[in-house]
Amino acid sequence: MFLSQLRRTADGGEVLDQVHRSDGIGAGTVRTIGVVGSGPMAIYVVKYLIMHDQPLEITVFEASGQAGLGMPYNPEMNADYMLCNAFSREIPPPVAPLIDWLKHLPERDLSEWELSYHELSARAFYPRVLIGEYLQSQFVDLCAKADAAGHTIIVRTDTAVSDIVPCAGGGAKVQWRHGDATGSTACDAVVIASGHSWSSHPQIDGVPLISPWPYTRITQAPGQRIGILGSSLSAVDVVVALGHARGHFEEIAGEVTWLPNDGQEDLSIAMVSHMGVMPEGDFYYPFPYGPASHLTPDAVAGEIAKGTDGLLDRVFALLLAELDEADPDYLNGLPAAARTVEGLAPAYFALRHDLGGLRSVRRDRVAARESIRRKETVPHRYVLLRGHEVFDDVLRALSDADYDRFHRHLLPVFADCYAAIPHLSLARIIALYEAGVLSLLATGAHSEFAQGPSGTISVETEDGRVTFDTMIDARGQSPARLADLPFKSLVPGLKHPDRPISDPFQLELAGTPASQIYCLALPQLLERHPFTQGLVDCAEHARALVGHMLRHA
Ligand SMILES: Cc1cc2nc3c(=O)[nH]c(=O)nc-3n(C[C@H](O)[C@H](O)[C@H](O)COP(=O)(O)OP(=O)(O)OC[C@H]3O[C@@H](n4cnc5c(N)ncnc54)[C@H](O)[C@@H]3O)c2cc1C
Repeated sequence: MFLSQLRRTADGGEVLDQVHRSDGIGAGTVRTIGVVGSGPMAIYVVKYLIMHDQPLEITVFEASGQAGLGMPYNPEMNADYMLCNAFSREIPPPVAPLIDWLKHLPERDLSEWELSYHELSARAFYPRVLIGEYLQSQFVDLCAKADAAGHTIIVRTDTAVSDIVPCAGGGAKVQWRHGDATGSTACDAVVIASGHSWSSHPQIDGVPLISPWPYTRITQAPGQRIGILGSSLSAVDVVVALGHARGHFEEIAGEVTWLPNDGQEDLSIAMVSHMGVMPEGDFYYPFPYGPASHLTPDAVAGEIAKGTDGLLDRVFALLLAELDEADPDYLNGLPAAARTVEGLAPAYFALRHDLGGLRSVRRDRVAARESIRRKETVPHRYVLLRGHEVFDDVLRALSDADYDRFHRHLLPVFADCYAAIPHLSLARIIALYEAGVLSLLATGAHSEFAQGPSGTISVETEDGRVTFDTMIDARGQSPARLADLPFKSLVPGLKHPDRPISDPFQLELAGTPASQIYCLALPQLLERHPFTQGLVDCAEHARALVGHMLRHA
């Protein structure tokens, strides 16, 4: 369908595309650009590149068979009941907003998703696989736009980039594999947008875990006592997938119950995490965000200008002032230590931890549903949600010691707030809990997992020692160093292989004063951009990178 609309060689990309300058690649001008990956990050990179007024030739290399999807939206990796937690108004449109795209779908396509035209909403959450169809169709539209604007886009699917060989002028040769064939494409500039990177054999404390990707590894997981490592969004996906595989959810008038399949009456599932709390349900908030009074971009810029000493505490004081103004009772209702960088998280999470993980999920769901129904925000959550974006500005300016404090003590609070769970997922979680199948256990920070002789896995929790037949890894993406990039000719030339990459995401290479190789690979970004977890961040990083690349071209 859509590949035939893209500029792609008839034999599927095996023919080497034309090399514009075989000598002196990148000698001052960027005309040929290689993009490694074709997920959301790459889509936004292409979006901003084709705004350039000079014609560009952009080659997009995609390892999988389908371009324009990305890992969390790919039906080969994700089930159709896994929901995206960004709504239309939040998703930066590559070409057209999600809601407009949905409204133009034929009624028959909508009904296949159990949707009808009249129910479509810019504030609703939709299945990630449906978002994948949107992204892919937007990518096609971007390619058409590029063509109309005089750019050339070559999309090479089933083409994995195996190496990036820097050239003296700043560009690089992109080496790739397509089936048994190998080839090389010379580019004036390269953007690495290779996305998520997961181990297919994850472990904890030397104990083997099951990877949740593709989701069929979850639905085919063996055993009746199933542990899930993690309790955030990925863990929710795993629980819901197990619920579908081992029984069925019945949804009547907004209430969900779960019934086991025959032979699954003894199923037990436990999410296990340090604190044993889950993020709260999605809540109503005005979007675009209303202005803040204290934690504003200008105030944060002012604090950064004063220098690194005490920077984290100064910006944290702005956050406290914002919380106090939005809801004077919130911090005053917590222990005094909540007003310190180290004390906020324990106080914030205690409200859920003390009642018990899933009991508090059930309690908080009521308030979250009321917030949406009445269109009334939850003031402290709205401050934290908006706050994380402003707080992000300060992270690259912190000393290493303060960054470490931020990472250990404040990041969990912000991450909890932006990981708001779609209500349908929450209802399914509660259904499994009420069916006596699901628990949420806290291990504390120093637990150790151990393997039993028959392959079982056990761990000490606050509720005693628990043993599982199988454990699924739902910890989410870990950060990685630039030195861990899988490109053997690139890494030895990095000037700072251990220094985190930051805006404008340009790699510094020994012997190349103006490298035109940029890195937006997620594990490397997460080193110092820990909030980079969503489509909004993809668009913002892509815009910053392209702005820099073309300004300096
Ligand atoms: C389970 C899960 C759920 C998520 N849910 C949401 C959500 O609901 N809302 C939200 O906003 N964000 C969500 N995210 C965040 C997600 O990171 C971003 O939305 C987005 O997918 C990041 O895009 P990306 O292009 O950087 O990476 P990816 O989506 O991973 O895409 C990278 C692409 O690069 C290709 N590639 C990799 N290596 C090579 C190579 N060497 N050569 C050629 N091609 C290569 C891959 O095949 C892939 O197509 C979720 C993340 C996960 C893991």
